Amino acid sequence: MASAARTYLGFGALLIAAHLAVGGNTGIYEGIGLASAGAIAIAVAVHRPENWLGWSGIAVATGFFAAGDLVYQHSSASFPGVPDVLYLASYAVLLPSLVLLAGKDFPWRDWGGHIDAVLITTALAVAAWMVFLDDKMQLTFSASSFVSAAYPLADVIAIGVMIRFALVPGRRNASYWLLLVALVPLLVSDGSYVLPAFDATYRLGSWLDVGWLGSYVLIAAAALHPTMSAVASADSRPERVSLPVRRVIVGGLAITCLPVATAYENAIHRQLDIEVLLIAGIVVIVGMVARGVLLVHELDRERRRAEASERRLRLIFNGAPIGISVGRDGIMSETNPALHRMLGYTGEEFAQMHYLDVTDPDDRALGVQLDLNEGKRDSFSIDKRYVAKDGRVIDTHVHVALDLADGLGVSIIEDISERKELEEQLRQAQKMEAVGKLAGGVAHDFNNLMTAVLGYSDLMLAKLPPGDVNREKVEAIRESAVRASDLTRQLLAFGRRQMLRAADVDLRDAVRGMDSLLRSVTGEDVRLETAFDPQPVIVRADPTQLEQVVMNLAVNARDAMLSGGTLSIGVARDGDDAVLYVADTGVGMDEATRERIFEPFFTTKPAGAGSGLGLSTVYGIVGQTGGSLEVESEPGRGTRFVIRLPLVGAERKLPFSGRGTKVLTD
Ligand code: ADP
Ligand code: MG
Repeated sequence: MASAARTYLGFGALLIAAHLAVGGNTGIYEGIGLASAGAIAIAVAVHRPENWLGWSGIAVATGFFAAGDLVYQHSSASFPGVPDVLYLASYAVLLPSLVLLAGKDFPWRDWGGHIDAVLITTALAVAAWMVFLDDKMQLTFSASSFVSAAYPLADVIAIGVMIRFALVPGRRNASYWLLLVALVPLLVSDGSYVLPAFDATYRLGSWLDVGWLGSYVLIAAAALHPTMSAVASADSRPERVSLPVRRVIVGGLAITCLPVATAYENAIHRQLDIEVLLIAGIVVIVGMVARGVLLVHELDRERRRAEASERRLRLIFNGAPIGISVGRDGIMSETNPALHRMLGYTGEEFAQMHYLDVTDPDDRALGVQLDLNEGKRDSFSIDKRYVAKDGRVIDTHVHVALDLADGLGVSIIEDISERKELEEQLRQAQKMEAVGKLAGGVAHDFNNLMTAVLGYSDLMLAKLPPGDVNREKVEAIRESAVRASDLTRQLLAFGRRQMLRAADVDLRDAVRGMDSLLRSVTGEDVRLETAFDPQPVIVRADPTQLEQVVMNLAVNARDAMLSGGTLSIGVARDGDDAVLYVADTGVGMDEATRERIFEPFFTTKPAGAGSGLGLSTVYGIVGQTGGSLEVESEPGRGTRFVIRLPLVGAERKLPFSGRGTKVLTD
């Protein structure tokens, strides 16, 4: 359909040339006008544009024009006369129709745009008036004078509407340009005709016809062009928030034309039309003031919007439960409260610090971080350790994103030390589980073997007469087998394969009953202190196993207090838990030892002195009884084991079973 517009332009040009060549031909002249009105109507029917009403109006206006031409050519009407009525009616339809071309999305509320269009149009029109017409005609208060001025004025208003369309954000299309270009020759011819209107020198076939006929053809071509439905459509791009700088420049240049034209007029013709200058000056000044007010208003609205957005972001920044740091070149210029809590520095302190200042030395040379610094990537997520102000090392997961445009970086830092600790505990528990299964399995088979050794030893002993030389040796074998069996019982307890003979036991009685045994274990140099809850502390457990637990812990405590000290054993109730603690004032343990004490066969004692099975047995029994076990110890500051078992009758199950035994590290 673009070709339809092109074809129409071509034929139009040919006909205009023919019209001029034959020195003016009313047939051609009227034909072009009527054909153009018809072409616009057809274009509306074919394109069915959204702005059909506007285009239909233009078709009607063009028809009025052509009708005016018809009457003008075929009657010798006076001026102003019937043709002028038709022409003016045509403008009355044309101007609102042009406005109706604006699409649905036209920014009607952009008052700045309206003012700009009025300013630019007024300045250009008045400047043109002064340069081209001012000296050639004097406006008088007569009908002919008003009608004469009405034509170019209406043309200027039409062009003003087109200028307003040009200020809509977005690209103007072919139909728009055709329409705009159609109005310019119209204005030139109308403006020029105004002069001959006083001395009646116009005749058909004059060059003025080119302007009028040309505008017929161009308007029709604009309607035929497929972009006719979007003559004044706004761009669908999201509106950018920016000041209309380009518009200010265009408007400023247009307004500058005024004093230049005034100076020109003054210099060349030495005659100034004060009234016109006055009107133009008032329009321009009022317009500019209004524009300034609008701009300030717009800026203020932008500022408020920015402030609201800033407030929202602040809220997120300050309220986020994870640490956030924003800054340039690795400096932690802005940090949020969560990060202050995590690392212990204040915002002012952070603002002076580089992220490396709080990065664990081992994590200072992370590859991704180097890539980021060298601009090879703009974001990364990684597990990384920070060092808090008090020296604590904090495990975190960090996400770093860099705005490559201005070098601003944001780090989002999540404290995952608790998760790490839980993972570590789970690993520890799983290791113990595996070792326990292995030990239990071996012990089971070993126990069967020992049963055979014991059985055959007994058989042999029964057969051997008293005083037999071999009797002592067989008894030694039997003795070893019994000890080996005991050992496997311990292993089985650790591996949880031994049958429980559980009963409701008062923990206080169990410990009290061991009093003499404990005193014989601790010896002279160690003081024994006991403390018991006044109320019964009933747990469901195997009494012999409970004794074994207390015994193993007491023996270890004694071993840790070779140069004397105090062994404290206590039984208490704590909520739904029964608590048994065994504490000593001995040598204590470092962290490396503390982490391994529950492993079977782990011992720090000289070969032959320790089996390394004491604590692993305790661990197994406590786990089997549904309890938990904690140890607190530091080198030189003694050791305290705390065992928690579920109180009988208590509703709640303990959060920690033997599997999740918590090893306190501090
Ligand atoms: P063993 O006593 O045979 O060495 P255990 O399993 O009973 O084996 O204990 C393992 C290790 O735990 C000990 O070798 C010792 O290093 C450490 N340990 C246990 N109890 C204490 C304690 N009360 N004070 C200091 N160290 C202890
Ligand atoms: Mg021991």
